[in-house]
Amino acid sequence: MAIYEYYCASCRKEFELMRPMSQSDAPASCPSCGAKGQKLVSASASKVDYYVRAPSKPPFRQHPPANS
Ligand SMILES: [Zn+2]
Repeated sequence: MAIYEYYCASCRKEFELMRPMSQSDAPASCPSCGAKGQKLVSASASKVDYYVRAPSKPPFRQHPPANS
């Protein structure tokens, strides 16, 4: 399960939903008005960001690449 951000065009508000990854692209109902919200890319972007922020050179990878 992960938290995804959605935008409701009716309320002009963003809302978050926790749902399985397999349903992340499915339309989400706005908790305020019930309209279908569209998924915002920011949630997945921050997920990518999480991987980018992970240490790129952990101690066990400090040896040089094999092909250099
Ligand atoms: Zn709404």
